[in-house]
Amino acid sequence: MNDCIFCKIAEGAIPCKKIYEDDEMLAFHDVAPQAPVHFLLIPKKHIPSLMDCADGDSALLGRLMTRAHRLAAENGLLERGGRFVINCGQDGNQTVPHLHIHVLGGRPLGWPPG
Ligand code: AMP
Repeated sequence: MNDCIFCKIAEGAIPCKKIYEDDEMLAFHDVAPQAPVHFLLIPKKHIPSLMDCADGDSALLGRLMTRAHRLAAENGLLERGGRFVINCGQDGNQTVPHLHIHVLGGRPLGWPPG
């Protein structure tokens, strides 16, 4: 997906503050952090949103969730927790159409979302 900003980040064409990378996923700090800890975990495969996932993506989604948890722990969220967010589509206020998990923490987070 050539005009996707997260695909370009995954390819290295746009820089990011990377915190993790393997063959199929990348984690980097959000450019506009909403909490002391706020990073994004993306699959390198272009999947527009969680709504677009297929049965064949199940294993990848499982590995993303496991990695999100491990990275959250490594970034200090194990004791007090935090939040894993996947915004989807228009009502979900998704602004970048490439599946990503927000990992947030380091302060109490309000609920419900606005
Ligand atoms: P969402 O609204 O769920 O689609 O979240 C998209 C997130 O991507 C927002 O929190 C943005 O701040 C973040 N973002 C957009 N462009 C970049 C970028 N180049 N590097 C890091 N984070 C970005």
